[in-house]
Amino acid sequence: MSAVQNVGIVGAGASGLATAILLAEAGADVVVYEAKPSLGALGSGITLQGNVLRAFDRLGIWDQVRARSFSFDVTGIRAPGPEAPVVAEMHDNRMGGPDYPATAGMFRPDLAEIMLARAQALGATVRFGAQVTALTQTDDDATLTLATDGGPEDVTHELVVGADGLNSAVRDLIGIETRPEPNGMGIFRAFVKRPAEADHTELVFGGPCYIAGFCPTGEDTMYAYLVEDKQDRQGMTSQEGSKIMAELARPYGAHWNAIRAQLEEGVEHINYTWFTSHVVAEPWNRGRVVIIGDAAHSCPPTVAQGAAQAVEDAVVLGDVLTRHDALTDELWAEFHGRRIPRATTVVEASNQLASWLLAHERGDVQGLHTTISDLVSQEP
Ligand SMILES: Cc1cc2nc3c(=O)[nH]c(=O)nc-3n(C[C@H](O)[C@H](O)[C@H](O)COP(=O)(O)OP(=O)(O)OC[C@H]3O[C@@H](n4cnc5c(N)ncnc54)[C@H](O)[C@@H]3O)c2cc1C
Repeated sequence: MSAVQNVGIVGAGASGLATAILLAEAGADVVVYEAKPSLGALGSGITLQGNVLRAFDRLGIWDQVRARSFSFDVTGIRAPGPEAPVVAEMHDNRMGGPDYPATAGMFRPDLAEIMLARAQALGATVRFGAQVTALTQTDDDATLTLATDGGPEDVTHELVVGADGLNSAVRDLIGIETRPEPNGMGIFRAFVKRPAEADHTELVFGGPCYIAGFCPTGEDTMYAYLVEDKQDRQGMTSQEGSKIMAELARPYGAHWNAIRAQLEEGVEHINYTWFTSHVVAEPWNRGRVVIIGDAAHSCPPTVAQGAAQAVEDAVVLGDVLTRHDALTDELWAEFHGRRIPRATTVVEASNQLASWLLAHERGDVQGLHTTISDLVSQEP
């Protein structure tokens, strides 16, 4: 490890843990500070495309991800309505190359558990219940102030990586004013039992929701989602969420009959969130502090690339830190040059797809998917 030997990472999400894995593997002293008391066992599913599966191989976790996810190469499109005829079955590009499936669906907490175990096995320290509240830096190092159960504490590192998500404190603390903005859509996600025949993602466009979709995540699990105009659903219980989802799903047929039956009985955990979008303009660093992942960019998951782009940020950061001798302008120029155009193209395409849905407009959806597929098929 050449550019830095001692790194503090804020946030134990996908981008923070990926960074921890790569830097610990390269021999740096790595500490991850996570505000939450633990990673938690509740969550929804995630759609992982080939390019992030390829990145997981680089992190040394692909075998475990493959064993605990559900792989497939086809996306089905059905029409709304009780008959729900299949309109198209598309063979998806293997964006990570022939060694990885086009897509793998996974339970988010399983992915988090695998990444955490790998980071710790390589020697990274992960401190839960450590929330970053302040930051100062000099020419030589950066100091974080943590709120912990034991009271405030200062820690100093040669480099700080702000991987602390959409509402990034690190982004605020280094004076970047760009914020994620809602795009007008909200999404329900429910983790449910998978009917055996539902063996790949299916999407329905139209009906009472913009999108009704599901993604298999395991032998008998999947997550189902409904995208609507954003509503204030703060404080909604899972019981209430199940009821609303069941009602919204009423006009959808095929596998939605089985999903709706589970919703009517009540699903244990329903997640509701708004879609957001932003990209922080260059540079993503201020001195010895850099932001990556959702702290730097977010988008509606219309091309399912948010976590993939977050992990690619970590892969490229790990690469430049390992190959350069110091935190020079050249290092940051290479990092920004490899990351910002690619992340920006993904955000813009995701926004465009969402805009067409909001306007009930038929744009060149296939063309945009091909552009993104060609782009992310290349190594980051
Ligand atoms: C509805 C929805 C569906 C999505 N579906 C997909 C999908 O199918 N495929 C895909 O690739 N992407 C998807 N995404 C995007 C993906 O979830 C994110 O891009 C990805 O999780 C970002 O990871 P991250 O590590 O940057 O941030 P996060 O996962 O948000 O991690 C940030 C971490 O920082 C911690 N933290 C925050 N503040 C502090 C602080 N002050 N001190 C210490 N710790 C702190 C948080 O507790 C958190 O653990 C979706 C996003 C949404 C909203």
